[in-house]
Amino acid sequence: MDCYDSALRYSKEKNPIWKAISRISASAKKLAEMITEITKAQLAWRLGVLRNEDRATPAQISMAKRNNVNMALEIAREARQVHGGMGITGEYPIMRHMMNLESVITYEGTHDIHLLITGMDITGENAFK
Ligand SMILES: Cc1cc2nc3c(=O)[nH]c(=O)nc-3n(C[C@H](O)[C@H](O)[C@H](O)COP(=O)(O)OP(=O)(O)OC[C@H]3O[C@@H](n4cnc5c(N)ncnc54)[C@H](O)[C@@H]3O)c2cc1C
Repeated sequence: MDCYDSALRYSKEKNPIWKAISRISASAKKLAEMITEITKAQLAWRLGVLRNEDRATPAQISMAKRNNVNMALEIAREARQVHGGMGITGEYPIMRHMMNLESVITYEGTHDIHLLITGMDITGENAFK
């Protein structure tokens, strides 16, 4: 959300070119896609409700963790592009989030391992043997 907020602010306030053409520009499309993906990833909320009711399965949590971290990295990459060259500087929070997310995609189950868990859940085949 911080990457999205920063990209939205940057394209509206700091970038005169995108400010002028923001309705039709690639940045507006990027922002629309970002907020769509963020909203989709809020399946975590639904999963939280299931967990509170003791109905969430480990495979569902695997799917959500994998999807959400990947989505957050995609958002950070898109936000970085909206900021242009400034996106790689410490003046904006994007690269900090990207570095953090590159860690999160590995810990608490790697991207690949969660995919194997989801595959195992839907096929019943043990992918780890
Ligand atoms: C910032 C950070 C913090 C961490 N904090 C903790 C912590 O607090 N506690 C803790 O216990 N650990 C922690 N870890 C370790 C983390 O859980 C492991 O790095 C992670 O589980 C991957 O294990 P590995 O590094 O040994 O890689 P490997 O197991 O060697 O995997 C390397 C690559 O091969 C893939 N791979 C592995 N096995 C298979 C397979 N069977 N099929 C297909 N692909 C496979 C993986 O997905 C990965 O892409 C942390 C890691 C990081 C980066």
